[in-house]
Amino acid sequence: MQYDLLLTGGEVLDPGAGLRGVMDVGIAGGKIAAVAASLPTDQARRTLSVKGRLVTPGLVDMHAHVLVNGHDMGIHTDRYCRASGVTTLCDAGSTGSANFAALRSVLDNHVRTRIRAFVNLSAIGITGTSRGGELSHFPYADPEGCARTISENPDLAIGVKLRFGPDLVWEYSAEPVKLARRTADMAGGVPMMMHITDSPVPLPELIAHMQPGDIVTHCYHGRNHGIMGQEKQFVLKEVVEAQRAGIVFDCAHGRNHFNFRMIEKALEQGFLPDTISTDLTLTSATQGPVWDLPTTMTKLLHFGMPLEEIVRRATAAPARIMGYEGTVGTLKPGANADVAVFGLRDGSFELRDTDGNTITAKRRLLAHVTVKDGRIWYERPAE
Ligand SMILES: [Zn+2]
Repeated sequence: MQYDLLLTGGEVLDPGAGLRGVMDVGIAGGKIAAVAASLPTDQARRTLSVKGRLVTPGLVDMHAHVLVNGHDMGIHTDRYCRASGVTTLCDAGSTGSANFAALRSVLDNHVRTRIRAFVNLSAIGITGTSRGGELSHFPYADPEGCARTISENPDLAIGVKLRFGPDLVWEYSAEPVKLARRTADMAGGVPMMMHITDSPVPLPELIAHMQPGDIVTHCYHGRNHGIMGQEKQFVLKEVVEAQRAGIVFDCAHGRNHFNFRMIEKALEQGFLPDTISTDLTLTSATQGPVWDLPTTMTKLLHFGMPLEEIVRRATAAPARIMGYEGTVGTLKPGANADVAVFGLRDGSFELRDTDGNTITAKRRLLAHVTVKDGRIWYERPAE
């Protein structure tokens, strides 16, 4: 038998590998073995027809939270991921030098989803922040500990996280950004991810201290000092130039960071997010308005972003940033056999942003089958 599992007749869409069309996907030994118009079913231990479905690489969520407040999705991470086609996720700085070991322990013992993480510049990470931001008290900034944690966990830690916003940092200037950037250099030149929602400082003054490969997250928030400044009409030229220079703009929906008017205007002006992510936490997964990554993708589809561009930014693009180029977020032979199968349903779907606006989407992505490392990890129950 050549294949352990054969997915037949689906519409394959893998922008990272340049694949699009009706094809079979053959899996062997936990890896993608072949993708072609027709593969022999008599060479497969198990065949699953996915005719009429969209077949993509397993989704990669660039910004979510496994251990914010010390637990959050925690041991339930797999449950949310597998039911939404997500096989890889990046924890966006839930923990810092003082509690990263707890994140590591949860991941090593309880989570199968493939995970990498940013380490918070604050030693305490995002813990108990309803009582004050993790860096509003300067002594919590731990550049040495953060850099050391990254260096000591090369299989897991990929960069430095900074949340810049009101009551989140010790001073409203570029100093916190400069310190985060210096920390990323101390850790060997890793990326820095900066949260920007409702910034008290204009965005151009902050991104001036970032480098290509660094990530601006929550790029479509509708609060103060976003990508369109205070006028909220046109994407600032400094922002367009930063994206051109290689600074990554990640959308990270969350409960406060996804405004339909901003998205509509930005897309009209040709400003697309480089990565599409959820900022998922237990609350936003169970009470909305995020729910899951396919729902965030559905919202962007509603505003006219081409499906291929959406899938690219939820597979190959974040996989590259997370250090998984060629092995995750792609269906290239040899890659880990992480595959997502979706239905693209027609109907009327009312969806909300984070500022009270609603849309009625006419199409919706719904996960049907998730394969992780060659094994079927989720199948949507028959309706
Ligand atoms: Zn977040």
